[in-house]
Amino acid sequence: MSQFNRHRRLRATAMMRQMVQENRLASADLIYPLFVVEGRHVKREVPTMPGVFQYSLDQIDAELAEINALAIPAVILFGLPAEKDAIGTGAFHVHGIIQEATRYIKARYPDLLVIADTCLCEYTDHGHCGLIDGETILNDESLAILAQTAVSQADAGADIIAPSNMMDGFVVAIREALDQAGHHAIPIMSYAVKYASAYYGPFRDAADGAPRFGDRKTYQMDLLIAGKRCARQPQISLKELTS
Ligand SMILES: [Zn+2]
Repeated sequence: MSQFNRHRRLRATAMMRQMVQENRLASADLIYPLFVVEGRHVKREVPTMPGVFQYSLDQIDAELAEINALAIPAVILFGLPAEKDAIGTGAFHVHGIIQEATRYIKARYPDLLVIADTCLCEYTDHGHCGLIDGETILNDESLAILAQTAVSQADAGADIIAPSNMMDGFVVAIREALDQAGHHAIPIMSYAVKYASAYYGPFRDAADGAPRFGDRKTYQMDLLIAGKRCARQPQISLKELTS
């Protein structure tokens, strides 16, 4: 008679459901993204994400107070520099917007985890995540700049480095640079399984990081290929896929 499993036995009451619940989502799991802008008096709504704002540091106190009141343990910072250039100087400058924002936040909320997005696309005038030669995105030359960016973010007090740039070898390059700079204790959160996808459109709006020519298909993952590989070889972790 028992041709099927009666999963509903474990769903019958609230206490039963609570006991067997596999995943719990609490405010302690959340990371709040903040888009910080160089300059003053800026609180600008992102057109493609209503209710999400870009803030200059003189406008960010109320947002930080709310994050703190909600017991959200971490913020991730995306920076919008006043000026962009070919190599993304604003990304690794000691007074870059991420570095300044990190110092500002840690001085006021030392327990709040500050995660620094490590990429160049918000800082380069061409909008790509690495250095370019013509319309070619240079891999290894970009690693040095990304490593320098990560170290400057850690120097400013970032608790976690979160590289999102999708250059080959970026995690190794950043880890080595952090260690050489004495930041052995700073973890890397590679959330950088990124797909060359239009779904990033609103986010590029928020971080002002859309490429000025071409797309990211030569360095970000193709959604279909990645899906097939994962399905065939489920033992491959997402982290391995990025490196
Ligand atoms: Zn990028």
